[in-house]
Amino acid sequence: MKSIAIVGASLAGLNAAETLRREGFNGRLVLFGDETHRPYDRPPLSKEIARGDWPPEKIALPVDALLDDAEWKLGCPVTGLDAAGRTLTYGDGKSESFDGIVIATGAAPRRLPGTDIQGVHVVRTLDDAIALRDDLARPGCRVVVVGAGFVGQEAAASARKLDLAVTMLESVAPAAHVLGAEIGGIIADMHRRHGVDVRLGVAAAAFEGAKRLERVHLSDGSVVAADVAILGIGVTPNTAWLEGSGLTIDNGVVCDEACFAAPGIVAAGDVARWPNHRYGELRRVEHWDNAVRQAEHAAKRLLAEAGGVHPGAYAPVPWFWSDQYGLKMQLVGSPVAHDEVRIVFGSGEEERFVALYRRGDRLVAAMGLAATGKLLKFRKMLENDPSWDEALAAV
Ligand SMILES: Cc1cc2nc3c(=O)[nH]c(=O)nc-3n(C[C@H](O)[C@H](O)[C@H](O)COP(=O)(O)OP(=O)(O)OC[C@H]3O[C@@H](n4cnc5c(N)ncnc54)[C@H](O)[C@@H]3O)c2cc1C
Repeated sequence: MKSIAIVGASLAGLNAAETLRREGFNGRLVLFGDETHRPYDRPPLSKEIARGDWPPEKIALPVDALLDDAEWKLGCPVTGLDAAGRTLTYGDGKSESFDGIVIATGAAPRRLPGTDIQGVHVVRTLDDAIALRDDLARPGCRVVVVGAGFVGQEAAASARKLDLAVTMLESVAPAAHVLGAEIGGIIADMHRRHGVDVRLGVAAAAFEGAKRLERVHLSDGSVVAADVAILGIGVTPNTAWLEGSGLTIDNGVVCDEACFAAPGIVAAGDVARWPNHRYGELRRVEHWDNAVRQAEHAAKRLLAEAGGVHPGAYAPVPWFWSDQYGLKMQLVGSPVAHDEVRIVFGSGEEERFVALYRRGDRLVAAMGLAATGKLLKFRKMLENDPSWDEALAAV
Protein backbone atom coordinates (compact mmCIF):
# COMPACT_ATOMS: atom_id res chain seq x y z
CA MET A 1 0.00 0.00 0.00
CA LYS A 2 1.55 3.30 -1.09
CA SER A 3 -1.13 5.85 -0.18
CA ILE A 4 -3.89 6.07 2.43
CA ALA A 5 -6.49 8.82 2.85
CA ILE A 6 -8.34 9.43 6.09
CA VAL A 7 -11.63 11.29 5.76
CA GLY A 8 -12.49 13.08 9.01
CA ALA A 9 -9.59 14.67 10.91
CA SER A 10 -10.86 14.28 14.45
CA LEU A 11 -10.54 11.69 17.23
CA ALA A 12 -11.02 8.53 15.14
CA GLY A 13 -9.15 9.92 12.13
CA LEU A 14 -6.16 10.98 14.21
CA ASN A 15 -5.95 7.65 16.03
CA ALA A 16 -6.22 5.75 12.75
CA ALA A 17 -3.39 7.85 11.28
CA GLU A 18 -1.12 7.32 14.29
CA THR A 19 -1.82 3.58 14.30
CA LEU A 20 -1.01 3.28 10.60
CA ARG A 21 2.39 4.88 11.17
CA ARG A 22 3.06 2.88 14.36
CA GLU A 23 2.25 -0.32 12.49
CA GLY A 24 4.87 0.53 9.88
CA PHE A 25 2.93 2.18 7.06
CA ASN A 26 5.39 4.73 5.65
CA GLY A 27 3.63 5.69 2.44
CA ARG A 28 1.70 8.87 1.65
CA LEU A 29 -0.85 9.70 4.36
CA VAL A 30 -3.48 12.40 3.77
CA LEU A 31 -6.01 13.60 6.37
CA PHE A 32 -9.09 15.43 5.07
CA GLY A 33 -11.14 17.49 7.53
CA ASP A 34 -14.02 19.82 6.76
CA GLU A 35 -13.37 21.84 9.92
CA THR A 36 -10.48 24.30 9.76
CA HIS A 37 -9.19 23.29 13.21
CA ARG A 38 -6.52 20.69 13.90
CA PRO A 39 -7.99 17.72 15.84
CA TYR A 40 -9.47 18.66 19.20
CA ASP A 41 -11.29 16.88 21.99
CA ARG A 42 -15.10 17.17 21.98
CA PRO A 43 -16.05 16.15 25.57
CA PRO A 44 -14.98 19.53 27.07
CA LEU A 45 -17.17 21.43 24.56
CA SER A 46 -20.35 21.07 26.65
CA LYS A 47 -18.41 21.51 29.90
CA GLU A 48 -15.23 23.59 30.29
CA ILE A 49 -15.49 25.40 26.92
CA ALA A 50 -19.22 26.21 27.20
CA ARG A 51 -18.65 27.58 30.72
CA GLY A 52 -15.65 29.63 29.61
CA ASP A 53 -13.40 27.80 32.11
CA TRP A 54 -10.84 26.77 29.48
CA PRO A 55 -9.44 28.57 26.44
CA PRO A 56 -10.03 26.65 23.17
CA GLU A 57 -6.27 25.90 22.81
CA LYS A 58 -6.49 23.64 25.84
CA ILE A 59 -8.53 20.99 24.03
CA ALA A 60 -6.16 20.47 21.10
CA LEU A 61 -5.43 16.75 20.78
CA PRO A 62 -1.71 15.93 20.91
CA VAL A 63 -0.44 14.77 17.53
CA ASP A 64 2.37 12.20 17.48
CA ALA A 65 5.58 13.24 15.72
CA LEU A 66 5.04 10.15 13.56
CA LEU A 67 2.58 12.32 11.64
CA ASP A 68 5.08 15.09 10.89
CA ASP A 69 5.12 14.09 7.23
CA ALA A 70 1.35 13.57 6.91
CA GLU A 71 -0.59 15.92 4.61
CA TRP A 72 -3.36 17.80 6.38
CA LYS A 73 -6.14 19.04 4.14
CA LEU A 74 -8.23 21.05 6.61
CA GLY A 75 -11.27 23.12 5.69
CA CYS A 76 -11.55 20.64 2.84
CA PRO A 77 -14.76 18.57 2.81
CA VAL A 78 -14.68 15.36 0.82
CA THR A 79 -17.78 15.39 -1.37
CA GLY A 80 -17.77 11.94 -2.93
CA LEU A 81 -16.29 8.45 -3.02
CA ASP A 82 -16.17 5.81 -5.72
CA ALA A 83 -15.51 2.71 -3.63
CA ALA A 84 -14.54 0.50 -6.57
CA GLY A 85 -11.72 2.82 -7.62
CA ARG A 86 -11.08 4.15 -4.08
CA THR A 87 -11.39 7.61 -5.57
CA LEU A 88 -12.25 10.65 -3.47
CA THR A 89 -13.71 13.90 -4.77
CA TYR A 90 -12.94 17.00 -2.75
CA GLY A 91 -12.48 20.75 -2.80
CA ASP A 92 -13.61 22.33 -6.05
CA GLY A 93 -14.07 19.07 -7.92
CA LYS A 94 -10.58 17.53 -7.61
CA SER A 95 -10.47 13.76 -7.54
CA GLU A 96 -7.73 11.42 -6.44
CA SER A 97 -7.38 7.66 -5.92
CA PHE A 98 -5.75 6.02 -2.92
CA ASP A 99 -4.72 2.46 -2.09
CA GLY A 100 -6.56 2.62 1.24
CA ILE A 101 -9.27 4.81 2.77
CA VAL A 102 -10.35 5.25 6.40
CA ILE A 103 -13.82 6.76 6.84
CA ALA A 104 -14.03 8.69 10.13
CA THR A 105 -16.54 11.45 9.44
CA GLY A 106 -18.37 11.19 12.77
CA ALA A 107 -21.88 12.50 13.25
CA ALA A 108 -23.79 15.79 13.17
CA PRO A 109 -26.43 17.06 15.60
CA ARG A 110 -30.10 16.82 14.68
CA ARG A 111 -31.93 20.13 14.41
CA LEU A 112 -35.60 21.03 14.59
CA PRO A 113 -37.60 23.01 12.05
CA GLY A 114 -37.93 26.70 12.89
CA THR A 115 -34.71 26.84 14.92
CA ASP A 116 -32.69 28.98 12.54
CA ILE A 117 -32.92 31.84 14.99
CA GLN A 118 -30.21 33.57 17.02
CA GLY A 119 -29.86 32.06 20.48
CA VAL A 120 -30.65 28.48 19.43
CA HIS A 121 -27.57 26.26 19.67
CA VAL A 122 -26.26 22.77 19.02
CA VAL A 123 -22.97 21.59 20.55
CA ARG A 124 -20.85 19.48 18.24
CA THR A 125 -17.94 21.61 17.08
CA LEU A 126 -15.54 24.03 18.74
CA ASP A 127 -17.23 26.87 16.84
CA ASP A 128 -20.63 25.74 18.23
CA ALA A 129 -19.25 25.70 21.78
CA ILE A 130 -17.66 29.15 21.48
CA ALA A 131 -20.95 30.59 20.20
CA LEU A 132 -22.77 28.96 23.13
CA ARG A 133 -20.16 30.21 25.64
CA ASP A 134 -20.62 33.77 24.38
CA ASP A 135 -24.41 33.54 24.67
CA LEU A 136 -24.30 31.98 28.16
CA ALA A 137 -22.17 34.95 29.26
CA ARG A 138 -25.17 37.28 28.71
CA PRO A 139 -26.20 38.52 32.17
CA GLY A 140 -29.36 36.85 33.48
CA CYS A 141 -29.56 34.57 30.46
CA ARG A 142 -32.45 32.04 30.66
CA VAL A 143 -31.75 28.66 29.11
CA VAL A 144 -34.00 25.94 27.70
CA VAL A 145 -32.36 22.58 27.04
CA VAL A 146 -34.31 20.52 24.51
CA GLY A 147 -33.59 16.82 24.98
CA ALA A 148 -31.91 15.34 28.04
CA GLY A 149 -29.42 12.96 26.46
CA PHE A 150 -25.88 13.19 27.82
CA VAL A 151 -24.89 16.32 25.88
CA GLY A 152 -28.14 18.05 26.92
CA GLN A 153 -27.61 17.06 30.55
CA GLU A 154 -24.04 18.35 30.51
CA ALA A 155 -25.13 21.62 28.92
CA ALA A 156 -27.80 22.01 31.63
CA ALA A 157 -25.24 21.32 34.37
CA SER A 158 -22.81 23.83 32.82
CA ALA A 159 -25.49 26.52 32.67
CA ARG A 160 -26.41 25.87 36.32
CA LYS A 161 -22.74 26.17 37.28
CA LEU A 162 -22.92 29.64 35.74
CA ASP A 163 -25.95 30.21 38.00
CA LEU A 164 -28.35 30.58 35.07
CA ALA A 165 -32.04 29.63 35.09
CA VAL A 166 -32.40 26.33 33.21
CA THR A 167 -35.48 24.46 31.97
CA MET A 168 -34.86 20.98 30.55
CA LEU A 169 -37.43 19.24 28.33
CA GLU A 170 -37.54 15.51 27.72
CA SER A 171 -40.21 13.17 26.43
CA VAL A 172 -39.74 10.31 28.94
CA ALA A 173 -36.82 10.85 31.34
CA PRO A 174 -33.16 11.79 30.84
CA ALA A 175 -31.35 9.16 28.75
CA ALA A 176 -34.24 6.75 29.41
CA HIS A 177 -33.89 5.20 25.93
CA VAL A 178 -30.44 3.99 27.02
CA LEU A 179 -30.63 3.61 30.80
CA GLY A 180 -34.32 2.85 31.31
CA ALA A 181 -37.06 4.94 32.95
CA GLU A 182 -36.04 4.19 36.56
CA ILE A 183 -32.45 5.43 36.24
CA GLY A 184 -33.72 8.23 33.98
CA GLY A 185 -35.99 9.31 36.84
CA ILE A 186 -33.04 9.32 39.26
CA ILE A 187 -31.09 11.51 36.84
CA ALA A 188 -34.06 13.87 36.48
CA ASP A 189 -34.16 14.22 40.29
CA MET A 190 -30.43 14.93 40.37
CA HIS A 191 -30.91 17.82 37.95
CA ARG A 192 -33.86 19.10 40.00
CA ARG A 193 -31.74 19.07 43.18
CA HIS A 194 -29.22 21.20 41.32
CA GLY A 195 -31.87 23.73 40.39
CA VAL A 196 -32.98 22.67 36.89
CA ASP A 197 -36.69 22.94 36.08
CA VAL A 198 -37.05 19.46 34.56
CA ARG A 199 -40.22 18.99 32.51
CA LEU A 200 -40.94 15.45 31.39
CA GLY A 201 -43.50 14.35 28.81
CA VAL A 202 -43.26 17.61 26.85
CA ALA A 203 -41.53 18.70 23.69
CA ALA A 204 -40.56 22.05 22.21
CA ALA A 205 -43.29 23.02 19.75
CA ALA A 206 -42.03 26.41 18.49
CA PHE A 207 -39.15 28.83 18.98
CA GLU A 208 -40.05 32.50 18.82
CA GLY A 209 -38.40 35.90 18.99
CA ALA A 210 -38.07 39.14 17.01
CA LYS A 211 -34.30 39.61 16.64
CA ARG A 212 -33.26 36.60 18.68
CA LEU A 213 -34.89 33.88 20.78
CA GLU A 214 -37.37 35.20 23.35
CA ARG A 215 -39.56 32.20 24.20
CA VAL A 216 -40.14 28.51 23.57
CA HIS A 217 -43.68 27.15 23.16
CA LEU A 218 -44.09 23.67 24.61
CA SER A 219 -46.31 20.84 23.39
CA ASP A 220 -48.51 21.12 26.53
CA GLY A 221 -49.43 24.71 25.61
CA SER A 222 -47.12 26.35 28.15
CA VAL A 223 -44.53 28.96 27.22
CA VAL A 224 -41.02 29.33 28.67
CA ALA A 225 -39.22 32.67 28.38
CA ALA A 226 -35.74 31.95 27.05
CA ASP A 227 -32.69 33.76 25.70
CA VAL A 228 -30.84 30.57 24.77
CA ALA A 229 -32.04 27.14 23.67
CA ILE A 230 -29.68 24.18 23.41
CA LEU A 231 -30.78 21.31 21.18
CA GLY A 232 -29.59 17.96 22.51
CA ILE A 233 -31.77 15.66 20.46
CA GLY A 234 -29.18 13.25 19.16
CA VAL A 235 -26.98 13.00 16.10
CA THR A 236 -27.01 11.44 12.66
CA PRO A 237 -23.92 9.91 11.05
CA ASN A 238 -22.15 12.03 8.41
CA THR A 239 -22.73 9.84 5.35
CA ALA A 240 -24.40 12.19 2.83
CA TRP A 241 -21.07 12.43 0.95
CA LEU A 242 -21.12 8.62 0.48
CA GLU A 243 -24.35 8.47 -1.49
CA GLY A 244 -23.76 6.50 -4.69
CA SER A 245 -20.32 5.40 -3.47
CA GLY A 246 -21.13 1.69 -3.68
CA LEU A 247 -20.80 1.24 0.10
CA THR A 248 -23.73 0.04 2.20
CA ILE A 249 -25.08 3.04 4.08
CA ASP A 250 -27.76 2.40 6.68
CA ASN A 251 -27.63 4.62 9.76
CA GLY A 252 -23.86 4.77 9.28
CA VAL A 253 -21.27 3.01 7.15
CA VAL A 254 -22.10 -0.68 7.46
CA CYS A 255 -18.95 -2.73 8.09
CA ASP A 256 -18.12 -6.33 8.88
CA GLU A 257 -17.04 -7.44 12.35
CA ALA A 258 -13.52 -6.09 11.76
CA CYS A 259 -14.57 -2.58 10.55
CA PHE A 260 -14.04 -3.51 6.87
CA ALA A 261 -16.50 -1.70 4.55
CA ALA A 262 -15.17 -2.70 1.09
CA PRO A 263 -11.81 -3.74 -0.37
CA GLY A 264 -9.29 -1.14 0.80
CA ILE A 265 -11.90 0.77 2.83
CA VAL A 266 -12.52 0.70 6.59
CA ALA A 267 -14.61 2.88 8.92
CA ALA A 268 -14.33 3.87 12.58
CA GLY A 269 -15.85 6.09 15.26
CA ASP A 270 -19.34 7.60 15.43
CA VAL A 271 -19.97 6.98 11.70
CA ALA A 272 -19.25 3.21 11.70
CA ARG A 273 -21.98 0.59 12.18
CA TRP A 274 -20.74 -2.92 12.70
CA PRO A 275 -21.80 -6.20 14.34
CA ASN A 276 -20.25 -6.40 17.79
CA HIS A 277 -20.45 -10.14 18.44
CA ARG A 278 -21.04 -9.54 22.13
CA TYR A 279 -24.44 -8.04 21.34
CA GLY A 280 -25.33 -9.78 18.09
CA GLU A 281 -26.60 -6.82 16.09
CA LEU A 282 -25.37 -3.93 13.98
CA ARG A 283 -24.69 -0.88 16.12
CA ARG A 284 -23.03 2.49 16.08
CA VAL A 285 -21.35 3.68 19.28
CA GLU A 286 -21.04 7.41 19.92
CA HIS A 287 -18.39 7.34 22.67
CA TRP A 288 -14.89 8.76 22.91
CA ASP A 289 -13.31 5.46 23.97
CA ASN A 290 -14.84 3.64 21.01
CA ALA A 291 -13.60 6.23 18.52
CA VAL A 292 -10.04 5.64 19.75
CA ARG A 293 -10.15 1.85 19.94
CA GLN A 294 -12.14 1.27 16.78
CA ALA A 295 -9.82 3.56 14.82
CA GLU A 296 -6.82 1.53 15.95
CA HIS A 297 -8.58 -1.68 14.97
CA ALA A 298 -9.73 -0.37 11.59
CA ALA A 299 -6.22 0.86 10.75
CA LYS A 300 -4.80 -2.59 11.48
CA ARG A 301 -7.55 -4.20 9.41
CA LEU A 302 -6.67 -1.93 6.50
CA LEU A 303 -3.00 -2.88 6.70
CA ALA A 304 -4.03 -6.56 6.68
CA GLU A 305 -5.03 -5.91 3.05
CA ALA A 306 -1.35 -5.37 2.34
CA GLY A 307 -0.01 -8.37 4.25
CA GLY A 308 -0.32 -7.10 7.84
CA VAL A 309 -1.70 -9.31 10.61
CA HIS A 310 -5.51 -9.50 10.54
CA PRO A 311 -6.71 -8.10 13.90
CA GLY A 312 -9.81 -10.33 14.04
CA ALA A 313 -13.24 -9.16 15.13
CA TYR A 314 -13.70 -5.86 16.95
CA ALA A 315 -15.85 -6.71 19.98
CA PRO A 316 -15.28 -4.19 22.77
CA VAL A 317 -17.29 -3.71 25.94
CA PRO A 318 -18.43 -0.10 25.40
CA TRP A 319 -17.47 2.47 28.04
CA PHE A 320 -18.78 5.99 28.35
CA TRP A 321 -18.53 8.78 30.90
CA SER A 322 -20.31 12.07 31.46
CA ASP A 323 -19.31 14.83 33.91
CA GLN A 324 -22.08 16.79 35.60
CA TYR A 325 -22.17 18.84 38.84
CA GLY A 326 -18.68 17.61 39.70
CA LEU A 327 -19.89 13.98 39.53
CA LYS A 328 -18.69 11.35 37.08
CA MET A 329 -21.42 9.22 35.52
CA GLN A 330 -20.18 6.10 33.74
CA LEU A 331 -21.75 3.32 31.76
CA VAL A 332 -20.01 0.06 30.80
CA GLY A 333 -21.54 -2.60 28.61
CA SER A 334 -24.84 -2.38 26.78
CA PRO A 335 -28.12 -1.98 28.70
CA VAL A 336 -30.18 -2.17 25.47
CA ALA A 337 -33.31 -4.35 25.96
CA HIS A 338 -32.44 -5.21 29.57
CA ASP A 339 -34.89 -7.25 31.66
CA GLU A 340 -33.99 -5.78 35.05
CA VAL A 341 -32.01 -2.93 36.54
CA ARG A 342 -30.97 -3.15 40.18
CA ILE A 343 -29.21 -0.56 42.33
CA VAL A 344 -26.62 -2.57 44.25
CA PHE A 345 -24.73 0.25 45.95
CA GLY A 346 -25.69 3.72 47.19
CA SER A 347 -28.77 5.60 46.02
CA GLY A 348 -29.92 8.39 43.75
CA GLU A 349 -30.50 10.71 46.73
CA GLU A 350 -26.91 10.23 47.88
CA GLU A 351 -25.77 11.02 44.32
CA ARG A 352 -23.51 8.00 44.56
CA PHE A 353 -24.65 4.64 43.25
CA VAL A 354 -24.03 1.62 41.04
CA ALA A 355 -26.84 0.01 39.02
CA LEU A 356 -26.50 -3.37 37.32
CA TYR A 357 -28.43 -4.40 34.21
CA ARG A 358 -29.58 -7.97 33.60
CA ARG A 359 -30.67 -9.55 30.32
CA GLY A 360 -31.75 -13.18 30.71
CA ASP A 361 -29.31 -14.67 33.22
CA ARG A 362 -26.37 -12.42 32.21
CA LEU A 363 -24.98 -9.13 33.46
CA VAL A 364 -24.97 -6.87 30.38
CA ALA A 365 -24.11 -3.44 31.76
CA ALA A 366 -23.24 -1.44 34.85
CA MET A 367 -23.90 2.23 35.41
CA GLY A 368 -22.37 4.30 38.16
CA LEU A 369 -22.49 7.81 39.55
CA ALA A 370 -19.49 8.96 41.60
CA ALA A 371 -18.44 5.31 41.96
CA THR A 372 -15.45 4.87 39.66
CA GLY A 373 -13.64 2.26 41.76
CA LYS A 374 -16.68 0.02 42.08
CA LEU A 375 -17.54 0.37 38.42
CA LEU A 376 -14.04 -0.65 37.37
CA LYS A 377 -14.65 -4.09 38.88
CA PHE A 378 -17.73 -4.60 36.69
CA ARG A 379 -15.94 -3.20 33.66
CA LYS A 380 -13.33 -5.95 33.97
CA MET A 381 -15.99 -8.55 34.72
CA LEU A 382 -18.05 -7.65 31.64
CA GLU A 383 -15.15 -8.68 29.39
CA ASN A 384 -15.99 -12.30 30.29
CA ASP A 385 -19.78 -12.28 29.83
CA PRO A 386 -20.54 -12.88 33.53
CA SER A 387 -23.72 -14.42 34.86
CA TRP A 388 -26.10 -12.26 36.91
CA ASP A 389 -25.41 -14.39 40.00
CA GLU A 390 -21.64 -13.90 39.62
CA ALA A 391 -22.18 -10.15 39.35
CA LEU A 392 -24.39 -10.00 42.44
CA ALA A 393 -21.88 -12.08 44.38
CA ALA A 394 -19.17 -9.54 43.52
CA VAL A 395 -21.07 -6.53 44.91
C1 LIG B 1 -20.37 18.12 23.26
C2 LIG B 1 -19.89 16.69 23.28
C3 LIG B 1 -19.54 16.11 24.49
C4 LIG B 1 -19.13 14.78 24.53
N1 LIG B 1 -18.80 14.23 25.73
C5 LIG B 1 -18.42 12.94 25.79
C6 LIG B 1 -18.09 12.35 27.03
O1 LIG B 1 -18.13 13.00 28.09
N2 LIG B 1 -17.72 11.03 27.04
C7 LIG B 1 -17.66 10.28 25.88
O2 LIG B 1 -17.34 9.08 25.94
N3 LIG B 1 -17.96 10.83 24.68
C8 LIG B 1 -18.33 12.13 24.61
N4 LIG B 1 -18.63 12.70 23.39
C9 LIG B 1 -18.59 11.85 22.17
C10 LIG B 1 -17.20 11.84 21.51
O3 LIG B 1 -16.64 13.11 21.49
C11 LIG B 1 -17.38 11.29 20.10
O4 LIG B 1 -17.78 9.94 20.24
C12 LIG B 1 -16.10 11.39 19.28
O5 LIG B 1 -15.77 12.73 19.03
C13 LIG B 1 -16.26 10.65 17.95
O6 LIG B 1 -15.11 10.84 17.19
P1 LIG B 1 -15.12 10.70 15.59
O7 LIG B 1 -13.73 11.03 15.16
O8 LIG B 1 -15.72 9.40 15.22
O9 LIG B 1 -16.15 11.78 15.08
P2 LIG B 1 -16.11 13.36 15.19
O10 LIG B 1 -15.40 13.76 16.44
O11 LIG B 1 -17.49 13.84 14.96
O12 LIG B 1 -15.19 13.81 13.96
C14 LIG B 1 -15.56 13.65 12.63
C15 LIG B 1 -14.86 14.73 11.83
O13 LIG B 1 -15.08 14.51 10.44
C16 LIG B 1 -15.43 15.74 9.83
N5 LIG B 1 -16.17 15.47 8.59
C17 LIG B 1 -17.48 15.13 8.46
N6 LIG B 1 -17.79 14.97 7.15
C18 LIG B 1 -16.66 15.22 6.45
C19 LIG B 1 -16.35 15.21 5.06
N7 LIG B 1 -17.27 14.89 4.14
N8 LIG B 1 -15.09 15.53 4.68
C20 LIG B 1 -14.14 15.84 5.61
N9 LIG B 1 -14.38 15.86 6.93
C21 LIG B 1 -15.62 15.54 7.35
C22 LIG B 1 -16.25 16.42 10.90
O14 LIG B 1 -16.39 17.80 10.68
C23 LIG B 1 -15.40 16.12 12.13
O15 LIG B 1 -14.36 17.04 12.27
C24 LIG B 1 -19.05 14.03 23.32
C25 LIG B 1 -19.39 14.62 22.10
C26 LIG B 1 -19.81 15.94 22.08
C27 LIG B 1 -20.19 16.57 20.77
